[in-house]
Formats: sequence, structure tokens, C-alpha cells
Amino acid sequence: MAVAGAVVLCVLAGAAVGVGVLDGRRDAAAADVQASASASVAARALADDAAAREVAAARASASLAATTRQEARSALLAAVEDGGATLDATDGEVADDAVRDALAQVLQRAKHALESTPQDAEAGEGGSAGGGGPAGEGGSVAALRALAAEVVAARAAVAASHEEWVAEREARAREAARTPAPPPAGRDPGGSDDDRCRTTYDGPPFYTSPPTKGGDGSNGRLPGSMLAATSWGVDPKGTRYYLRTEATAALERLNVAFRAEFGHDLDLDLTYRDYATQVAMREALGSIAARPGTSKHGTGYALDVPELPCEYGYGTPQHTWLVGTGPSFGWVQPSWARQGGSNPEYWHFEYVG
Ligand SMILES: [Zn+2]
Repeated sequence: MAVAGAVVLCVLAGAAVGVGVLDGRRDAAAADVQASASASVAARALADDAAAREVAAARASASLAATTRQEARSALLAAVEDGGATLDATDGEVADDAVRDALAQVLQRAKHALESTPQDAEAGEGGSAGGGGPAGEGGSVAALRALAAEVVAARAAVAASHEEWVAEREARAREAARTPAPPPAGRDPGGSDDDRCRTTYDGPPFYTSPPTKGGDGSNGRLPGSMLAATSWGVDPKGTRYYLRTEATAALERLNVAFRAEFGHDLDLDLTYRDYATQVAMREALGSIAARPGTSKHGTGYALDVPELPCEYGYGTPQHTWLVGTGPSFGWVQPSWARQGGSNPEYWHFEYVG
């Protein structure tokens, strides 16, 4: 009984195993079907991928074309901006005005081309962008590039002409340095017959600087937003005297007191001096001029009165008054500039607030 039961159990177990095997086969078949289905899905996916890749490639190609035009447009825009800045900065400061006219003309053509060229990078795909229209879409890249090259070349010609102009100016300055600078015109400095009253300056003529266009605020590169001109006086070129706004405000108050004392405005010789002018002065004067980028005049916080020893020299009533009264208006003569200082410059004052 026990054996029979065992056999029955075995048969049952065998049947169970058989069922199990059968199930296994079914599973395998199902797996095959699934695998084949997966394969076809994968194949379809691959096909889809390929199609997607084609679409992507087509898009990329269109986008590349648009990007290329966009890049050409950006390059032209940058060239136009640079060219415009050069044009602004060289007014009256080129050896040959014709090169500035040429630059102005090519800039005008470039601006016109920019205005009539689609700005949107997608515009190339549908050709639906307005402005330039489809005509010359392919060619406009070449046209934009050609124009950019023209602008760059015209700008280089202006820069070269400006360099020439600067060299001529410096040559004139060196020439002038060989002859003593005449005393400033206008008021009689008093005792002008006296050699001791002649100007103590014998370098090239120099000028104060207007605000620096596009200046970043560093030494010698102060923009108009940081500077204010005094209400009186211009240099021999007609440039007004600029200082940092608060220094000018304080100097205006000091000048009211000076005028009450001496009957005329404080004479100015130099206030703000830009970097380029400091470079030129350093070249002309050597180490007497501060290294470009370090001059106190480049900060807009320094002024020089004229180098007239009988008017502003040590011991004159004006100098004594300025040294004594200036500090209550924030203007001092630094110790190095005083008599007996390390670099006596009776004419130099600084705003310290
Ligand atoms: Zn100075």
C-alpha cells in the first residue's frame, strides 16, 4: 500500500514533471514569439531611428545653413560696431580724411544689408522670413562675409591713417620740445620781463583730455559718466577741464573762494589725462612723465595749475593760499610735491575728499 501510494505519487510527480516540461516548451515558444516580436519592434525602431536620423540630419543641415548665415550676420554686426567705434574715435585725427569717408560709406552699406537680412536662425528652413526674402539666401552668406571683410579692411585703413596722424603729432611735439613753450596768453603774469617768472615747463605742449569714449573706468580710461567739466577754462585745444564729478564739485567751491581772494578764476593747466596721451607724454618726456596707467591725472583726482613760478610757485600768495585753504575743500598738495619733497611740483594738487 505504501509502495503503490509511492508509485502513484511518482506517476503524479512524473505527470507533473511532464506538464512542467510542456510548460517550459510553451514558455520557450512564447519567448520565441516575443523575441521575434521584439526583433521586429527593434527593427522598426531601427528604421524609425534611421528615419529620425535622416530628419535630424536634414534639420541639422538646415540649421547649419541658418547658423552659418547667423554667424556671418553676427560677424558683420561686430565688424560694423568696431568700425563705428573707430569712426567716432578718429574724427579729425587721421592723416587722410578720405579713409574715414570710405569707412563711413561701407558702414552704411553694411547696415543696410543687416537691416534687410533675416535675423532669425530658423528663417532659412521655410524660407518664410520676411525682409530679405528667399532671393539670395544662399548668396547672402557670401555677401555678408564679403561686406564684413570690406568693413574690416576699411577700418584697418582708418586705424593706419590714425597711427600716421599720431606719429605726426608726436613729431610736432618733439619739435616743439626743442623750443621753450610760450607763456599762456591772456592775463599778464606780472614781471614777465623777469626771467625768473618764465614758465618752468620746457616740454612739448600738452593738453588735458576729454572723457574717454567707451572707457572702462580704469586709469586713463574714464567715461563721461564718471567725469564733470569745470565751469571755467579750456585748454589750448578748446578741451574743457574734466575731473571726477565729486572732485569738480569741490573745486567749484574752492574756486569761488579763490576768486574772492585773487579776483580771477584759478588757472588750470591739466586735469584728467587719458591713457593714450600719457603714453605720448611718456615717450616725449621719459621718466619725468608718470608711467602710463599710474598717473594720478588718469584717475581724474589731480590738477595742475600752470608752471608759472611768480604766480603759483612755492612762496607765492596763491600757492600759500592753495596749500592752506585747499584742504578744507578736499584739495591738497601731496607731501612729495611740496618744497623739499621727493618730487617738488608746486603746480600739482590732488583731491582727497
Ligand atoms: Zn600733476
